[in-house]
Amino acid sequence: MIDQITAQHEKEYGERPTVITSAPGKIDLLGEHSEVGQGYVLSLAIDRRFYIAASHREDNSLRFFSANLNERKKSSIAGLKYKREDRWANYSKGVIDALIHMGFNIRGLNLTLFSEVPMGIGLASSSAMTVATVCAMKEFFNLDISDAQIIEAARSSESRFMNLHEGIRSPMVSFYAKADHLALLDIRSLKVEYPEFPREPVVLMVTDSRVTESMRDDEKAALEHSCQECINALDIGDSGLLFRDLSKDDLSSTVEGLSERSRRICLHIIKENVRIKDFRKALNDKRFSMAGRILFRSHESLRDLLEISCPELDWLAKRAVETEGVYGSRMIGSGYGGCTVTLIDSHLLKNYEERMEEYDRIFGFKASVFPVHPGEGARVHLTES
Ligand code: ADP
Ligand code: MG
Repeated sequence: MIDQITAQHEKEYGERPTVITSAPGKIDLLGEHSEVGQGYVLSLAIDRRFYIAASHREDNSLRFFSANLNERKKSSIAGLKYKREDRWANYSKGVIDALIHMGFNIRGLNLTLFSEVPMGIGLASSSAMTVATVCAMKEFFNLDISDAQIIEAARSSESRFMNLHEGIRSPMVSFYAKADHLALLDIRSLKVEYPEFPREPVVLMVTDSRVTESMRDDEKAALEHSCQECINALDIGDSGLLFRDLSKDDLSSTVEGLSERSRRICLHIIKENVRIKDFRKALNDKRFSMAGRILFRSHESLRDLLEISCPELDWLAKRAVETEGVYGSRMIGSGYGGCTVTLIDSHLLKNYEERMEEYDRIFGFKASVFPVHPGEGARVHLTES
């Protein structure tokens, strides 16, 4: 990859890069909607990465070349603002803008983007891109920047510059992840723990339903609103208790002042926090059947309580758990489409792949299936600046 991006950069700009960084895509195994309740999220970086190469310019202009898309965009330090027509380049522009806002001195440069992370299917290619970009800026301009600031700059590219409803968990995972380990995020303290993920005898498969994820930003905001509504209805705002300290008994029946929809959303989030603890223990004890059951229970909850699944994802998760050798499966990503993740006995992988061939016959398009293993977080491959 390093040779390839170096060659791409050289061909595009007529000079070799002096900095190359990369950051991984990621998936959440459990808890992707718990960020709003300041709960826990269990994620992993995947072993597919987003590479950025950078070289010097004499002026203050910014050149972006996406080798994947074979597209070019340009901007300048003085002219950094969100432009719809700049599409993908806005992610990089947003990072540079965030760093300038933080007081760092950034000048013109040439950037090449080259990624192995499939885009737009919930594997966080956008976070991989923003995190890799911040790391490239840090190396290129020798920035005295903290890890927390790196994550904030990556996040703010999407949340502030692009005005998307983007949380902190994806840049956190992409930056902090460790190979062969899951990343257990505490969204309140922003601390990460690293439960080990075995290389054998299980494997995680991502299956792309080919249905586009389509949760809207206002729906994401509604989840947040539900948590607040719950805190108000239970009147725990002043008690020092957090949303995540609630137990499912608090919400097992109707609560005055809390709409039924919000109660169900909150119940999902609370139960998901418990599932994360149980999953971690099951994995640690190598009780894979138990770990798999937890994943599928989470899928059922996403389907029935949060109501963000769709027929294709339900089919994928349900057929998966009926297949010999599969421990569990669930949808991942923000909702209504995207991928599932499936925990499988690595010796019986063939069964799963064969079973997924039926998808094409039923839905009329092929689900693509590929293994993922926990990969390492952001890293620097070359720095000559
Ligand atoms: P996800 O982060 O789940 O992959 P997003 O919609 O958040 O989906 O981000 C995908 C967007 O990120 C793409 O539409 C594109 O703008 C940008 N992107 C991802 N990979 C690349 C790439 N290799 N080159 C240019 N832009 C990319
Ligand atoms: Mg994204």
